[in-house]
Amino acid sequence: MRISEPRPEPLLAIHGGAGAIARERLDDGGARAALRAALDAGYGVLAEGGAAVDAVVRAVASLEACGLFNAGKGAVRASDGSVSLDAAVMDGRQRAAGAVAALAGFPGAIEIARRVMEATPHVLLAGPGAEAFAEAQGFGRVPPAFFVAPLPGAALATSDAHREGGGGAEDGPASGSELGTVGAVARDRNGGLAAATTTGGIRGKLPGRVGDSPLVGAGTWADERCAVSATGLGEALIRSVFGFRLASWQAQGMALAEAATRALADAASLGGRSGCVAVSALGEITLMFDTAGMFRGFVDAGGRRRIAIGPDDESD
Ligand code: ASP
Repeated sequence: MRISEPRPEPLLAIHGGAGAIARERLDDGGARAALRAALDAGYGVLAEGGAAVDAVVRAVASLEACGLFNAGKGAVRASDGSVSLDAAVMDGRQRAAGAVAALAGFPGAIEIARRVMEATPHVLLAGPGAEAFAEAQGFGRVPPAFFVAPLPGAALATSDAHREGGGGAEDGPASGSELGTVGAVARDRNGGLAAATTTGGIRGKLPGRVGDSPLVGAGTWADERCAVSATGLGEALIRSVFGFRLASWQAQGMALAEAATRALADAASLGGRSGCVAVSALGEITLMFDTAGMFRGFVDAGGRRRIAIGPDDESD
């Protein structure tokens, strides 16, 4: 129905991870403020007529940099105590994509992923190759202590609660004040769609483990009809090809929310609870999860901003 819009209004949705949300986090002013700041950063781009891909990178970079989420400072540790990040960005107009996986020693992973998209013929760089690329591109390396320095208000890992049956017992050494994976999807004034996602992965992961976030079609997907960013147990999201299948169901005529419900159910059938944000070219916007909560927010076609953490709360 919105297909007849004379000029598409911008849309933006973000998440900061799905999982079991500790009661005190439901009123977490810090997390809400960080979500608000990320929405404002991303929506500012769209309001000025900027591209969806610029908006999602800006929003995700804001969440990465705030230090509260599992996406930069505050990322979870692997079983050997190391920290590495996965990130991807996808521009739906050309289905251009860039990603980094198992990237150690660099914060700001989404900007590095974007550089992969723009400055190389490749889609995904991993491990030492990704780090050498980041260095050559002028991104600043940080010492391991950067990621694990304790932060005030610490220690909820939404990542621990994705497995069916509840919380993980695989806690590594205490990390920063991690919330969850971060992601964004947007539609710009030209109808262009984009998605971006960054994560430190799951706590206690084996070194070298790569999750769904940097994998095109799994945790991150955008084409000309639909953009998706997922959060949850990466192994289930990869096996369900979460983002691509959600988009395919939407392209076949399913409402976006229905497609998201079906995608979540499929990931759950593979043992992982998850969440996602998605927008469609038709103007649909969906923020959905089958966990206890998801840090999330959106700006709708009327420019109305909303933030939520638990299942029922909503603030602006
Ligand atoms: N999907 C992420 C991963 O498995 C984790 C998360 O969303 O919390 O790497």
